[in-house]
Amino acid sequence: MKVTDHIKKANGKTLFSFEIIPPKKGKSIQELYSNIDPLMEFKPPFIDVTTSREEFIYIEKEGLFDRKITRMRPGTLGICAAIKHKYNVDTVPHVLCGGFTKEETEYLLVDCHYLGINNVMALRGDAMKGEQYFKATKGGHSFATELVAQIQDLNCGNYLHDGVTVDDKSDFCIGVAGYPEKHMEAPSLNTDLMRLKEKVDAGADYVVTQMFFDNKKYFEFVEAAKNIGINVPIIPGIKPLAVKRHLQLLPQVFKIDIPENLIQAIDSCKDNKAVRQVGIEFAIEQSKELLAAGVPVLHYYSMGKSSNIQQIASAIF
Ligand code: FAD
Repeated sequence: MKVTDHIKKANGKTLFSFEIIPPKKGKSIQELYSNIDPLMEFKPPFIDVTTSREEFIYIEKEGLFDRKITRMRPGTLGICAAIKHKYNVDTVPHVLCGGFTKEETEYLLVDCHYLGINNVMALRGDAMKGEQYFKATKGGHSFATELVAQIQDLNCGNYLHDGVTVDDKSDFCIGVAGYPEKHMEAPSLNTDLMRLKEKVDAGADYVVTQMFFDNKKYFEFVEAAKNIGINVPIIPGIKPLAVKRHLQLLPQVFKIDIPENLIQAIDSCKDNKAVRQVGIEFAIEQSKELLAAGVPVLHYYSMGKSSNIQQIASAIF
């Protein structure tokens, strides 16, 4: 079932969902299952599975370094299919522009369709590690809008190159990313919102936001989006802080602010166990306010560890 149909079916009730990261290459999927298991009691209608970009590694050979390309966390689609069938839940693979040609994207979408996966999150992806700016892959897309357009084209039965007769069209529900504190490369929040509108006009069905810690920023973002004619559901993304280092890391990587009261509470923690508890309590309060405002879904970034999400969900759902 489509994410947007789950939202419609819920009829105003806020749903619970979360995002997971595929395990590192060589690790078993079992650890992922043991992190998903405790969250299933909260009946997520869908689970997102991220995709990581390829990266360069350097292999030393007789004093010289050979540069190779690798993917440290492959398996997004396989994991989506495994989870879908193990838990009987919809899964949302993240599909990236970076690292994929249009043809590779088409094949991935065809695989999704065969597997009965009819939700995808369309993203541009970040710059490769060690590179300052995002560079489009040769034969790939430069912006998420173009990826959304390709997926919509496929929904209309248009393959990239082949004039095949289509008797079984895909019907993907497409999610895209939104940034209440603006995307780091955007010159202004307003410009970024106009870019979001372009994604929706190209066929995106819903938006999931970047993490934020000040609900006011989300509410203002939703209002501003509505004002420019973005009328699809905007799902808030929530990340509980878990370690002291997040205070520097999250603003640095995602260009987001952390509220003063949360900084002070974390600063006064003796160890990361205490930080994790502060993160849980803050996320519960944040979630309660969003729930009261009637958000369609509370979507949690689990980063592969579920015990804190479980405690938050227990307090909310
Ligand atoms: P876009 O919408 O393409 O926007 C990128 C930038 O370009 C923005 O600044 C925008 O304003 C600007 N822009 C857009 N169109 C144009 C145009 N035509 N001309 C000029 N500028 C333009 N990353 C991963 O690698 N894997 C994941 O699984 C993943 N999941 C994510 C899930 C969520 C909910 C979110 C919020 C982010 C996720 N990301 C993931 C991170 C994401 O890939 C990065 O934030 C990336 O830098 C931007 O992706 P986008 O899809 O928002 O890009």
